[in-house]
Parts: sequence; structure tokens; C-alpha cells
Amino acid sequence: MQSINPFSGETIQTYPEYTSEEVKNIIGEVDAAFQQWKLTGIEYRSMLMKNLQNQLIDHKAQLASIMTAEMGKVLHEAMGEIEKCAFVCSYYATYAGSFLKNEPVATESSEAYITYQPIGTVLAVMPWNFPFWQVFRFLAPALMAGNTAVLKHASNVSGCALAIEEMVREAGFPENVFRTLLIGSTSVKTVIENPLIKAVTLTGSTPAGKSVASAAGSVLKKSVLELGGSDPYIVLEDADVAAAAQLCVKSRLINAGQSCICAKRFVVADPIYEQFKAEFVRLMGQATFGDPLDGKTTFGPLARVELRDDLHQQVEESRVMGATVLLGGFIPEGKGAFYPPTVLENVVPGMPAYHEELFGPVAVLFRFTSEEEAISIANGTVFGLGAGVFTSDVAKGKMLAEKGLEAGCVFVNDYVKSDPRLPFGGIKESGYGRELSTVGIREFVNIKTVVVK
Ligand code: NAP
Repeated sequence: MQSINPFSGETIQTYPEYTSEEVKNIIGEVDAAFQQWKLTGIEYRSMLMKNLQNQLIDHKAQLASIMTAEMGKVLHEAMGEIEKCAFVCSYYATYAGSFLKNEPVATESSEAYITYQPIGTVLAVMPWNFPFWQVFRFLAPALMAGNTAVLKHASNVSGCALAIEEMVREAGFPENVFRTLLIGSTSVKTVIENPLIKAVTLTGSTPAGKSVASAAGSVLKKSVLELGGSDPYIVLEDADVAAAAQLCVKSRLINAGQSCICAKRFVVADPIYEQFKAEFVRLMGQATFGDPLDGKTTFGPLARVELRDDLHQQVEESRVMGATVLLGGFIPEGKGAFYPPTVLENVVPGMPAYHEELFGPVAVLFRFTSEEEAISIANGTVFGLGAGVFTSDVAKGKMLAEKGLEAGCVFVNDYVKSDPRLPFGGIKESGYGRELSTVGIREFVNIKTVVVK
């Protein structure tokens, strides 16, 4: 397994894959750790989780630079990601006790209540795009609930995976409550089938989700899937066009466009379409790309050269089929897996840019003449992760958010962000289950009923 710097093209390190025997032994050790960890009290777990929060802050610069080197995220975004991980540790350290408290239920019995008990070792299969955040938003609630965990991280970010394991250990957690498995995706099925693994969570592409879900289903284990998205943002005629364009561009370019909840499709009312388009293209064109370690760079390379090439192919195929390229749409000369901010219009059904997730800085503009048409374009996708509505009529925005848009979360007059306090997840082929908030910590627990006659 190789970590290759996508800016310089240099190999950072090569990691030998763990053998199946090593993987089996580690899972055995993690299960043994579970037998003790499940007996610990919530105050002790909170204390360790706060240590972990402090570890992250103390090592912020070092951890951020591993991330930037391995997948090209600009340094200030990498620092922000570590801070967000510290936040989710602090959030669950503070609130897990109340989220998991026994809940009495009035019945004819003398006592009845719900209790939330840990289930054992959970496998987390994670992507490279937010190599710390994706792991921590699973890890913090899982450990606080009394579970233990093994991580199979994306093959290009093994340095991040090992650094997370090290942080957990340094925070004082007992040995083996969390371990990294350096394995390829073909070994995931065997891990899921191991009887000591009780459930699996995957954040990644829809094809990976289908494969993990079927492996988990075949052995009747629970899965949570956080998959791809093609988030639509509807800009209504009464929106503040300049503010909407600015937030839409910001969302499209987060992490060089490689976020599941980046805005990807912009559905704009006909009377303001040209105005929005001009401002949107102008702002997209301002991003300056360069060395992600340079503090002045606002826009880094994509994570791997082949991912950049796949993205360009989606753009090219759409262009050949009749899409108009308003900005970008070419592979820049020189080193680095760079792709310029790109804007497409005249995209119609049948083109890759219409149906597929564009996992990079490529935006697609659509024009609509009625709200029904806007909703139909927005929902005309297999995905259902996030969505946005821009309007000065907040009541209408809320109505479209609640009843119109098919998504796990909708933001009105802002771009979609994950937040430890709010449930996060999708519908349709964006997956099922939720992370974060109260509901996230209850995904991997036994919701047990206790009744006393
Ligand atoms: P990916 O190729 O699906 O990889 C994600 C993880 O799954 C990696 O650890 C990968 O291992 C593993 N994997 C891939 N194919 C597998 C299979 N058939 N069986 C078992 N494991 C498999 O996705 P990615 O390119 O890293 O990440 C980008 C995708 O993730 C996008 O679609 C994005 O929208 C989605 N994403 C979703 C969310 C969300 O919360 N909904 C958040 C972030 C990203 P290897 O690296 O070894 O192949």
C-alpha cells in the first residue's frame, strides 16, 4: 500500500499489507479489549475522550501535514479538520452520558425501561477525502458507547490511519480498544465475516457501499452507509444572487471539490440565471492552485492522478455529447494531480455530468422556469445526501427543504456542513443510517428493553 504525495508525485512511504493471520490476531485482541472496555463507566470514557481531544489540539500541525502530504488538502483546511475532530471528541465526552441514559417507560409492569448497551467490535471502512474527520465522527461515539473498533482506511492514507491509532493510544485508552488494519478492499469481506466483528460502517462510494452492505447482509450484521452525493442547490428568483453565488462556489470548492456534501448541481431560476452564472463563473475562476503546504494556496491538487483523470473523462464525455464548458475543463501542464475549477451548462440526461457524482471541482448549471421543474431536476438523481435552497422567503425555503427535496439534510441560505450536534446521512443511493448527534451514537448499540414484573 503506497502513500503518494499528489502535489509532488513522490512516494512518501510503502506499507506492507497485514497478513490474514495478523488481521485475525488483531481482531482477537480488540475483542478481548471489548470484554473489559464495556464494563467501564461513562465518566472514565469521557475523561479519556477529553484527553484525545487535547492530543489532537497539541499535535494539530503535525497531523495536518500528514494529511496534506498524503491527499493534497490545503494546510489550513487540514488544520480545521483536526479542530473539528477535537470538537466531536469534546461533544461526545460531554453528552454521551445523557444520550445513553436509561429511559423509563410507563407500562402495567412495576418497572420497564430502555437501556443502551454496547455491541462489541465495529469495523469502520473509511475514505481518504477527510481522512481524520470521517474516522473521528465514527470513533468518538463508538468508544463512548462502550464499543471497540477496527479501522480499514483508504489505501492511500495509511499514514493518517496509523497516526489516529497512535493518538488514541497516547490519550491513555486501554490497549487495543481501537486498531488500524492495513488491508486492501478485497480483504474487507473476510473481516466482516469474522464472528468477532459485530457491525460495519462504511463511508465511501456507492459501489463500495453495495459491496459492504451485501457482505454484511449475508452474515446478518448491521451496516451504516455514508455514500456519494450529487447535492443540488436551488436558487430561487427572489434570492440574494451575489450571496448565493459566493456560498455555492465555496461549497463546490471545499477540499478541491472532493466532498460528498459539496454542492455539485446548481438549479437556477430563469430570470436570474445569467446574473448568477456570470458571478458564479467569476468566483470559480478566482481559485489559485498550488502547493497545498503553502499558506497562500486556496486550492490543492486532487488526491490521486487517476481520480483527476477519471473526472476529466466525465467532463470530456459530456462535452462531446453537447455540454458547454464555461470555465476550465482541461488538465493543466506540469506536475501535480491538479484540475481547474470547471463550470458546465447545457447538461442533459444521458451525459455523465447529469447522472454521475463529479468528485472534484466541476459544477453543473441548470435553468428552471417553474418550482416543479426545479424540484424535478434537483431530485432527478439516484443520490439523496444534502441539498440547498436560496431564497428571501424563508417559509418557502423551509417548505421546499421539508417536503420538496429528497435528501438527508437541507440547508436554507447556506451551504451544507456536517456538525457533531446534527444528524448526518443520506437516503436513496447515498446510503442509510445516521452519524453524529443523539441518533449517531445509537446506531451501534443494543437498544435493550428491560421489564420487571
Ligand atoms: P471508495 O473508493 O469507495 O473507498 C472508500 C473506502 O472503501 C476505502 O477504504 C476503500 O479501500 C474501501 N473500498 C472500496 N471498494 C470497496 C469494496 N468493494 N469493498 C470494501 N471496501 C471497499 O471511495 P473514495 O474514493 O475513497 O471516497 C470518495 C467517495 O466517498 C465519494 O463517492 C464520496 O461522495 C464518498 N463520501 C461519502 C461521505 C458521506 O458521509 N456520505 C463522506 C465522504 C466521502 P481502498 O482505498 O483500499 O480501495
